[in-house]
Amino acid sequence: MSDNYDVIVIGGGPAGYVAAIRAAQLGMKTACVEKWINKQDDPALGGTCLNVGCIPSKALLEATELYSVASHDFADMGIGVGNLTLDVPKMIARKDKIVRELTGGIASLFKSNKIDWLQGNGQLLADRQVKVTDHDGNEKSYAAENVIIATGSVPIELKATPLTDDIVVDSAGALDWEAVPDRVCVIGAGIIGLELGSVWRRTGSEVVLLEAQDAFLPMVDKAIAKEAQRTFAKQGLDIRLGTRVMKSDVRKGKVDVTFSDGDGEHVETFDKLIVAVGRRAFTDGVVSDESEVQLDERGLINVDDHCATNVPGVYAIGDVVRGPMLAHKGSEEGVMVAERIAGEHGSVNYDVMPNVIYTHPEVAWVGKTEEECDEEGIDYQVGSFPFAASGRAKAKGDTGGLVKILRDRSNDRLLGAHLIGPSASELLAQSVLAMEFDATIEDIAHTIHAHPTLSEAIHEAALGADGRAIHIANRKVPARKSA
Ligand code: FAD
Ligand code: NAD
Repeated sequence: MSDNYDVIVIGGGPAGYVAAIRAAQLGMKTACVEKWINKQDDPALGGTCLNVGCIPSKALLEATELYSVASHDFADMGIGVGNLTLDVPKMIARKDKIVRELTGGIASLFKSNKIDWLQGNGQLLADRQVKVTDHDGNEKSYAAENVIIATGSVPIELKATPLTDDIVVDSAGALDWEAVPDRVCVIGAGIIGLELGSVWRRTGSEVVLLEAQDAFLPMVDKAIAKEAQRTFAKQGLDIRLGTRVMKSDVRKGKVDVTFSDGDGEHVETFDKLIVAVGRRAFTDGVVSDESEVQLDERGLINVDDHCATNVPGVYAIGDVVRGPMLAHKGSEEGVMVAERIAGEHGSVNYDVMPNVIYTHPEVAWVGKTEEECDEEGIDYQVGSFPFAASGRAKAKGDTGGLVKILRDRSNDRLLGAHLIGPSASELLAQSVLAMEFDATIEDIAHTIHAHPTLSEAIHEAALGADGRAIHIANRKVPARKSA
């Protein structure tokens, strides 16, 4: 292993490992420093996303959703399953196997792309030198023409509710319970709170979410957020807005949570407490003072539109820089930076960033909300379509939710798409593609959608934006031409 590289990436999550692979594809001699030690005590690539984030949470969401459908909906379809059981340790073991296979897959991709994986903790020194401290404490420095910092984020902890080994946990801890807790409290009704709250609710836990803000999912289109709140409440997620958590006391294997709301102060006892109040950029010890890399006032590494820091040849991508904390956002930044280092014209279209909450129904959106259009004074028109009117949704027995699209009246372009419903995460992709290609609503309306599919709901919403939806009454029916 030589000590000089064209590119050294610090951090092997979805931002860093993708940057490393793209740099290697472009012919650059590349190394990636990664310190992660997994549950089995082995070094692992893949970062938060593959080890304790996107992938394991979705493995549990899929398994518990099937369990929930089998418990509640099969009988309606004439399917009897006898005495349905849930083997939680097996469900967790399946999740762990998926994680091991995918993280092992990244290690294989590194080998085939001839990327050196420097196992241990990386620190950027002056002049693009990177010091690596391996897991035995040995230090070695490497030099690089270019350094990409991709050290990600970690959960925010609350002083009032310190984490314990297995009762007060962060999101990673809540992916490993081997038995169904009777009562779970989640602090934060954000994306993690709703996804992990759903997982344990479906297994039979009573789940209470304590949310500080008065508004539910304020970043989501108002109509969609309202529908989501109503649906989640029906599923038994007890979402309490406008609450302030004061403290937690662990005793006799349970946890007392003290919180206040409009009705005063309360203490409730739970078996588990999940703290899910957001994540913070991880920069602890990553950039030395002599590297001269600047952080912004929120502790994120300061970068320009192309992820360049204030130091020439040093870049930062993913959760450690501004923008949404999403795996795909970090990966696209990784590709952009690798391509720009290679002299190409990489770019990221931050205006067309898909967002998904993987509850059931899923919530998914891209582009502007109505509220944002109003603020910006954009003249827009709404087209919407409920899944209750979709033949395919009816056949699936999954008719909750709707599609809503926003059309720019001035040029017929799609401003945004907002969905809550079955497979919303997959349906969103066609709106993302339409926006990326600058398609008009007429283009979507003109596109043939297979019947019967859920995607017809987007087609109908596009027709509806123009007052010509077929399978639902339009808001404005044009006057009849007289004969
Ligand atoms: P990370 O994935 O955090 O990776 C950073 C890596 O850098 C880590 O492996 C870390 O060990 C390493 N590192 C840090 N410092 C050093 C150092 N000094 N030396 C060496 N290595 C270092 N996003 C989605 O888009 N979709 C989802 O469905 C989704 N679900 C999620 C579910 C959960 C429960 C959580 C917690 C997050 C989820 N996210 C999801 C968010 C997503 O995981 C992050 O946005 C994404 O992982 C960020 O990628 P990253 O590469 O920037 O950082
Ligand atoms: P979040 O920002 O989505 O939600 C945190 C919630 O906690 C907010 O609603 C906030 O108001 C609330 N909160 C903060 N402090 C509180 C307090 N003291 N008491 C009560 N409530 C409080 O953050 P998250 O759910 O922790 O997720 C972290 C990041 O991970 C997000 O930015 C998200 O982008 C990413 N993530 C994405 C996905 C996905 O794409 N499906 C899934 C999980 C996580």
